[in-house]
Amino acid sequence: MKADINSARRQLLKKVALGTVLVPLVGLDMRAAFGADTPLVTEDDPVAKALKYVADGSKATGAKPGSKCANCNFFQAAAGSAQGPCQLFPGKAVKAAGWCMSWTAKAA
Ligand code: SF4
Repeated sequence: MKADINSARRQLLKKVALGTVLVPLVGLDMRAAFGADTPLVTEDDPVAKALKYVADGSKATGAKPGSKCANCNFFQAAAGSAQGPCQLFPGKAVKAAGWCMSWTAKAA
C-alpha cells in the first residue's frame, strides 16, 4: 500500500515537472488578474526551476530556435508586451523573451 502511494506520488511529480497536468489550464484567461504590480517569475522559483524557465530564452539550452514566451500558447499578454501572465505561473508574470521546457507554439 505504501509503495503504491510512493509510486503515485512519483508519477504526479513527473507530470508536474513536464507540465502535463497543467494542460487543462489552456483557455484560462489570466489577463484580468494581471496588473503592473504582478511580480515577475524568477529563475529561482521552484516551478521555474522544474520547467527550466529562463528570462532570456536565447540562453536556454534545448530551446527550439525562435521559441520564446511571446510566441508560446501559454503566454497571455497582448502582442508587443515585454512581459505578461503565463498560464503555468498563476499570479506571476514572465518575460516575453523568456522560455521554459513547456513552450508550445501559439495556436494560429
Ligand atoms: S515558454 Fe510558454 S509556458 Fe514557458 S514560461 Fe514562457 S509562456 Fe510560460
